[in-house]
Amino acid sequence: MNIVLLGSPASGKGTQAEILSKKFNLFHLSTGDIARKLAEANPRIKEIINSGKLLPPEEITMHVLDFLEHEKPDMTGILFEGFPRFISQYEALDNFLKSKGDNIDLVISLEVPMEVAIKRISSRWMCPGCGEIYNMETDPPKNPGVCDKCGGILVQRDDDKPEAIKTRFEYYIRNTKELIDYVDAKGKLTRINGDRPIGVIAKDLEEVVRKATGNDNN
Ligand SMILES: [Zn+2]
Repeated sequence: MNIVLLGSPASGKGTQAEILSKKFNLFHLSTGDIARKLAEANPRIKEIINSGKLLPPEEITMHVLDFLEHEKPDMTGILFEGFPRFISQYEALDNFLKSKGDNIDLVISLEVPMEVAIKRISSRWMCPGCGEIYNMETDPPKNPGVCDKCGGILVQRDDDKPEAIKTRFEYYIRNTKELIDYVDAKGKLTRINGDRPIGVIAKDLEEVVRKATGNDNN
């Protein structure tokens, strides 16, 4: 069972991927984590990511497949989060998995409106001193703009500012639509409304995966 979980920035896909992978004992492959690791080692990649853009699709594919070879050589029981986003990436991954005797069983698209994404991300502030993260809506500091732990002045990451979020969101929608239609035509797509409480979404996702697993055993 290999699952792809797609979702725009701030769709909550990271949180849901964690819940889902624990529940079904899946290997959680987060493209965001891979990209952050690459950024630490490579200033060019860091600059692209900080400007709210993404790496070229072929380059991402290469890094993901390389990561899989090293970290998950049996190539099964994987939850792909944030990858693939393009038809070319989907086919590259599917062919790669097939060459290892497996494939992509299920694609889930977690969807939220852009206003929701902007509101969610722009409420996130952090302390440059100690790294603590605050959510101004749900988990604000005691003194506005000041870190509870170390007294540092809170800042917004560049890619958490509304303009950068809008760029990322529009880029995502523009580039993922083709893949979503493509997967839909194959009968592998499930759309989930991400603008609901975490627990409600998690239940929906669990049901979708259980159904797909059931089909696998038939
Ligand atoms: Zn602090």
